[in-house]
Amino acid sequence: MKAHEASCHCGKLSLTYTGEITKTSVCHCFECQKRTGSVFGVQTRLEALKTQIKGEAKIFKRTGDGGSEISFHFCPHCGSTLYWTADWAPGAVIATIGAFCDPSLPAPVMQVYGNRKHHWVMMPESAVEYFD
Ligand SMILES: [Zn+2]
Ligand SMILES: [Zn+2]
Repeated sequence: MKAHEASCHCGKLSLTYTGEITKTSVCHCFECQKRTGSVFGVQTRLEALKTQIKGEAKIFKRTGDGGSEISFHFCPHCGSTLYWTADWAPGAVIATIGAFCDPSLPAPVMQVYGNRKHHWVMMPESAVEYFD
């Protein structure tokens, strides 16, 4: 199996994943819109044990609507968020899909915060709405 490589905008913070990326999801929430500068975030859940992180990261913590804490790890040089960890995902690293520069990665199977989706955004049929 080939390793998946992802990195921040400047390349100083990177990760290598030796597992398989089988699922991705989309989040339309306003926090993801602000974090990415785009109108939704796309991410995948990786097994922490198969993820190797290289470089220095700063952490921005925020509390999600469900009350749990999420720690966003971003590059202090260029500001890109590469991954995050959360109470509700023990043993996992959640990585931003764009950082992989790999258009062959799977289409989203889930979307959340559909009530904040921009009206022109079309999602693939595979992206089942999880909650509003
Ligand atoms: Zn960077
Ligand atoms: Zn979000």
